[in-house]
Amino acid sequence: INWYPGHMKKTKEALQKNLKLIDVVVELLDSRIPFSSKNPDVDRIIKDKPKVVVLNKSDMADPSKIKIWQDYYESRGIKAIPVNTISGKGVDKIIQECREAMREKMEALVKKGRKERAIRLMIVGVPNVGKSTLINKLAKRKSTQTGDRPGVTKGNQWVKLKGDLELLDTPGILWPRFEDENVAMNLAFTRAIKDEILDIETLALRFIEKLEDIYPDNLKERYKLEELGQTPLETMEMIGVKRGCLMARKEIDYTRVAKIVLNEFRDGKTGKMTLEVPSDFEK
Ligand code: GDP
Repeated sequence: INWYPGHMKKTKEALQKNLKLIDVVVELLDSRIPFSSKNPDVDRIIKDKPKVVVLNKSDMADPSKIKIWQDYYESRGIKAIPVNTISGKGVDKIIQECREAMREKMEALVKKGRKERAIRLMIVGVPNVGKSTLINKLAKRKSTQTGDRPGVTKGNQWVKLKGDLELLDTPGILWPRFEDENVAMNLAFTRAIKDEILDIETLALRFIEKLEDIYPDNLKERYKLEELGQTPLETMEMIGVKRGCLMARKEIDYTRVAKIVLNEFRDGKTGKMTLEVPSDFEK
């Protein structure tokens, strides 16, 4: 998706329209980059709607840092749930928390003599955080579609979930903070945006620089390095030698090393890592 102001405006309006139909917003973030994978305007758009945060792809993130992000959200009165959408770990917790978020409202409804009704959910997030995967996972549990309803954007359907919940089958796709260079870099590291924001060698260098700072041991262990280089470039060359990425006259094939380093991280082979913590943004 190419986000330009006109597109952003339309997206926001479509989301505002759908918000009228739903009770709880499920905001999906990538556990490895909970800041970079967050839409900067989402809280202003959803206003006071109850929200549950899902820290997705938790299988690839650093458990101790997941905890730090959970505490950060907890201190702001928001539940953040680590989830692995592929295995399904944590998915039931989402349903539970959405019910919890609506409990008082539903109890008030019953007190007034009205019938308890289904809680309606919608998933929002930037591209690639796992929205479609989560919708499929949730829907599979019990999937009778209830069909179109007045006011639902054409094509949208409600999927019945267990526990008397209904999920809008179309997620709200939001834009990331792409104007921030660090964010763009984190999104590219995690394959959320195409590598083309920088040439792949520079991207890998920036990634190595980051790991040297926050996960030097993962880097050493993965590439069997006794020590890291004096500079990220030197480390990159050392990795190249270890992996036999050499061209004629024993020159390092930087493109190949870059692809190895980035893809092994993206495939989870370099270990469970989280690239940012809340205190990075409080400075
Ligand atoms: P969407 O653009 O937000 O709808 O994202 P998708 O559902 O298409 O997911 C993007 C990629 O992330 C896909 O390759 C998914 O398989 C992968 N993915 C989604 N959830 C998880 C997860 O919990 N763990 C891992 N490792 N990968 C995930």
